[in-house]
Amino acid sequence: MGASDVTAPIHTDDTTVVIVGAGPAGLIAVHLLHRAGVPYIVLERHARSAMEGMAKAGSIDYRTVELLKSVGIVDSILEFTATNYCCEFRTPDERVLFDYGTLAGDRPHYIYPQHLLVARLCDALTAIDGDIRFGTEVNTVEQDEHGATLSIVDECGTAGTIRCQVVAGCDGARSVVASALRGCKVVEQSLPVRWLAVLGTTAPLEPHTIYAAHPRGFAGQMRRLPTLTRFYLEVPATDTFADWPERRVRDELSVRLLVPGRLDDVSFIEPSFVDLRMRMTTPMQDGALFVAGDAAHLITPAGGKGMNLAIADAVELAQGLIERFGAGAGAGDGDRLARYSETRLPAIWRIQAFSRWMLRLILAGSDDVVGQGDDSSFGAGLRQGWVSALQHDAQLARWFAYSYAGVDPD
Ligand SMILES: Cc1cc2nc3c(=O)[nH]c(=O)nc-3n(C[C@H](O)[C@H](O)[C@H](O)COP(=O)(O)OP(=O)(O)OC[C@H]3O[C@@H](n4cnc5c(N)ncnc54)[C@H](O)[C@@H]3O)c2cc1C
Repeated sequence: MGASDVTAPIHTDDTTVVIVGAGPAGLIAVHLLHRAGVPYIVLERHARSAMEGMAKAGSIDYRTVELLKSVGIVDSILEFTATNYCCEFRTPDERVLFDYGTLAGDRPHYIYPQHLLVARLCDALTAIDGDIRFGTEVNTVEQDEHGATLSIVDECGTAGTIRCQVVAGCDGARSVVASALRGCKVVEQSLPVRWLAVLGTTAPLEPHTIYAAHPRGFAGQMRRLPTLTRFYLEVPATDTFADWPERRVRDELSVRLLVPGRLDDVSFIEPSFVDLRMRMTTPMQDGALFVAGDAAHLITPAGGKGMNLAIADAVELAQGLIERFGAGAGAGDGDRLARYSETRLPAIWRIQAFSRWMLRLILAGSDDVVGQGDDSSFGAGLRQGWVSALQHDAQLARWFAYSYAGVDPD
């Protein structure tokens, strides 16, 4: 049989846990399983080299760093040193700087570009001979009373199957594992606008996050690296890349962020569209199948919570798997694993609710209702009302600061 013959399986592996996807969720889970001695295989459809070029998230919640400290990932593998304390709400009429980090008890965000975090976690796994198979795509997942069978195709086009007791679906928004869940409910909502995301080859315009609500639409700036900055533009959901040549991106950012001339020498690279979409899968498990991160839920980009949820899911799922399958004293009856979805869902809904609410502070126009008259000026007035409330209502300001920085209430 030739390497290109993908019709017949030529190899079969058995293991305890198969993790599908080596994004933040899959990689955090696998490090914890590896340390606990739980047998596993990680399957990732992309080549290792391609993983380095996928810049997405960058702001890491305070609670995420604390969680990663508590499970020993911080210091041994990841270090979080760059902090972000402030965000600014900007319109043509006013600039309001909000020091949420101080208000949350000196607990800020951390900045760590997702592709660098993924690269660091991959390197650390390779260094300990972790079983991670890049360039291997999972096509189907089927479960039976003893576990699950995954059909795969590797980077040479060779087909095969893997048997395991449990599948951890960490395979992102178009999850194959999620599509194999039986009897789970999926609910989804989306807004008629989305964000065009680009990276600008420049230092940040300001050292803090900027949310600009201009009558032409939202524009945002988030710090990433000293010479690379994330920018967003609110655009109609029907727009394509052809509608947004680099010159138009530059002009529109300059106008909406109110920075004429300051972006003239900046290149804007890696454009992508981010949908303002929310999706929940309940429960996040079915028999031998579990889903985590974007595979289980999607959240709007407002507040930068997606990767944080993915990491928190992964830690809880891994701890349930370790209790069930880990060697020695930690091995248990599987109760924590059985309660994985129940444990995670309340926190996920809380963060969904915050992210959805935060769109009111960010989008230039109204974020949901359709009314009569000038909808955008009504939306701008509501937004101004919320920003004003943040300035004058200490309790609202405190709630926002804790939710935004990702700090659990004291
Ligand atoms: C522009 C942008 C900015 C963002 N900013 C932030 C932010 O500041 N803060 C934040 O918290 N979140 C942010 N997010 C969201 C965040 O990036 C995601 O929530 C996060 O990547 C989810 O991680 P994950 O591990 O669940 O999934 P993913 O990162 O999507 O990883 C899934 C992995 O599974 C692999 N895979 C998929 N299907 C298969 C298959 N069939 N077989 C094998 N492998 C497969 C994929 O190749 C991928 O490597 C941002 C997203 C974007 C697009």
